[in-house]
Amino acid sequence: MNVRLANLSGRSVLLSENRCTDVERRSNGRFSADPTAAMNQWDALADWAHGLRAGDFDADYKETALSAPVPRPAKVFGVGLNYREHANEANLPFPAQPMIFTKFPNCIVGPRADVVLSSAFVDWEVELVIVIGRAGRRISEDKALDCVAGYTVGQDISDRMLQFADQPPQFSMGKSIDTFGPCGPAIVSLDAFADPNDLQLDCHVGDERMQHSRTSDMIFGVQPLIAFLSKHCTLEPGDLIFTGTPSGVGSVRNPRRYLKAGEVITSEIEAIGKLVNRCVAGEG
Ligand code: ZN
Repeated sequence: MNVRLANLSGRSVLLSENRCTDVERRSNGRFSADPTAAMNQWDALADWAHGLRAGDFDADYKETALSAPVPRPAKVFGVGLNYREHANEANLPFPAQPMIFTKFPNCIVGPRADVVLSSAFVDWEVELVIVIGRAGRRISEDKALDCVAGYTVGQDISDRMLQFADQPPQFSMGKSIDTFGPCGPAIVSLDAFADPNDLQLDCHVGDERMQHSRTSDMIFGVQPLIAFLSKHCTLEPGDLIFTGTPSGVGSVRNPRRYLKAGEVITSEIEAIGKLVNRCVAGEG
């Protein structure tokens, strides 16, 4: 059974189907109730969690009570133009090396959080998010998956007006507004996936399907991204890597299409789960 680590009302829990168990209580205090601290114990926690049985999941939970699996990561990387079809729709050449920006950790919210619209130019970007489970520097591609705790679903919400206000673009600012980084519902260990580089991902706004692709369309896959980032930065448990979005964002549609207050964004990746985020009006 794969490991699904989540954050239920601020406490680390493991999920199985529609049941959960509290990590600290079930482990008799061996592992932390704090979701950020629990990431520092990932290897031992995952070993222990793999041994749990169905009967150990002793409580019900509501998806709406889940918060971000890593609420305050030390680093949140974003990757620009990392899907072939997305680079094509934007009429831009494929990057020669990963194009990295940051989403500041203040933007991270849970899988059911509201997204507060900052302008009339806010866009959606469903993304596979890599969660680091083991610290490392200069990690080779063939060792890269060993430092991954698992995957989760992310939305790289982007204010295109702020992002492209001037030259060069302000990627980090336009993507770091409070509530612009929904994540969840759980960190899912890699043994849940037949091929960790080929997962279907979808984004709907209301009933309309906006994005539908597979992670195999990435220009730089999971292993090359980890090798590239760790060549420059020490990766630490709980760090998040938003791996880029496939085609179908609103800003390159004809006519352009942006999020409106009251709309609901549903972002889903096979074998992980989904985010359901309602858009609400900001203060302007
Ligand atoms: Zn993105």
